[in-house]
Amino acid sequence: MSHMPFPNVITIDGPAASGKSSVARLVAARRSAIYVNTGNMYRAMTWAVIAAGADPADAEAVRQAAAELKLESPVVEGRTQVSVNGRVLDDAELNSDPVNRAVSLVARVPEVRERLVAEQRALADLGPLVMEGRDIGSVVFPDSATKFYIDASEEVRAARRRAQGHQDQVAERDRLDSTRKTSPLVVPEGAIVIDNSHLTLDQAVQAVLDRLP
Ligand code: C5P
Repeated sequence: MSHMPFPNVITIDGPAASGKSSVARLVAARRSAIYVNTGNMYRAMTWAVIAAGADPADAEAVRQAAAELKLESPVVEGRTQVSVNGRVLDDAELNSDPVNRAVSLVARVPEVRERLVAEQRALADLGPLVMEGRDIGSVVFPDSATKFYIDASEEVRAARRRAQGHQDQVAERDRLDSTRKTSPLVVPEGAIVIDNSHLTLDQAVQAVLDRLP
């Protein structure tokens, strides 16, 4: 699928719980752009695969369950929601323990990625975007002129997840995300790397805004 040479998309990638979602949301508000959390799209797919009774570790079962789902990204108050078969999923569903455990297994299936990447590219038709995920600057919008990679130490990231009330193994999710064959987590070519281990949210947002044209 083709896309514009310089899409109006600020891409923000990074590992789990690096703080990129909070930064992306605030940068989007400051730039009057639509905020897109692509992790929620993989989470919605995972929620639906589990609800369909498919084993998330079985790639063929995931492919079949995913093929039967209708996934949409309606924009509400400046950010995309995710709906499966017409039903918008809430934060509790997207961040449930079963979804936390299974999402990296579902996200490594190439057909799932192809479909969500096409959906993510199509969102650029709606206007300027701030899109965050794992492969946005490397695969979804490699021609973006404004790419960021927000990192933080493993200790800080694990503490952040605990503070959010999640028990999931961030390190295991990162291992799967970084070693999968299709679109692994990488620092995209041309991305500005921000170490968010010891920054406040305001400082991290400012670090991004300072680097924008
Ligand atoms: O961003 P978040 O931690 O909610 O993402 C959940 C999972 O979705 C990641 O651990 C990864 O497996 C997958 N993901 C992905 N590509 C993206 C965004 C998320 O593979 N662009």
